[in-house]
Amino acid sequence: MIRYSVIKEKNPREIVLLKGFSCAYGKCAFCNYILDNTNDEEEMKKVNFEALSRVTGEYGVLEVINSGSVFELNSVTLERIRKICKEKNIKILYFEAYFGYLNRLNEIREYFSEQEVRFAFGLETFDNDYRTKVLKKKFILNERVLEKLKSEYQMCLLMICTKGQTKEQILNDIEKGMENFKELVISVFVNNGTEIERDEELVAWFLTEIYPKYKEKQNIEILIDNKDFGVYVQ
Ligand code: SF4
Repeated sequence: MIRYSVIKEKNPREIVLLKGFSCAYGKCAFCNYILDNTNDEEEMKKVNFEALSRVTGEYGVLEVINSGSVFELNSVTLERIRKICKEKNIKILYFEAYFGYLNRLNEIREYFSEQEVRFAFGLETFDNDYRTKVLKKKFILNERVLEKLKSEYQMCLLMICTKGQTKEQILNDIEKGMENFKELVISVFVNNGTEIERDEELVAWFLTEIYPKYKEKQNIEILIDNKDFGVYVQ
């Protein structure tokens, strides 16, 4: 299990994977991250303080992820993040927050008022049917919702190459992602013991025909392996 890493390419930043309470939603069919959740606050504190102690501030940018949303971190962890940000002169702070927290993001912005807070969220796909019926991530995008998401979130996370997806869907997702969000993170799905399965044909097509076209784009990060950011739980 690796909880601290440094991303050196494109958008250099330090990244920590912290432990939080259970994801408030917790029903996405592809998600095994929630195995890292805990209700034991002593354990949470120990793990999180240890990971945060490694932050050096070398780029002034820190991404904090926690197998859920920032709202599921306990208060001592949030305080420690704020302290580390001050000590290490962190200027930009990334957090993940599920769609359901859309109207609460300002609470975090206010808490970290000395940093520019940027939020990421897992849209997974622009295809409403696939997202809600197959991935069981139950929110519907329409124009109004998309406008709101664009204004609140900096980074959109897409998941590609799962069974049932098509090439057209993947291409459309990437194009729309680029059109609507400042930063895009595309994860090629890796089997993880959930009911969702990787489609090897789509992976082969993506890696040979599509990946080379996008890999140099500054605002797109493509995770071929779920360990590519250097932090992972397995
Ligand atoms: S919202 Fe995120 S953490 Fe929660 S179940 Fe879905 S993918 Fe997992």
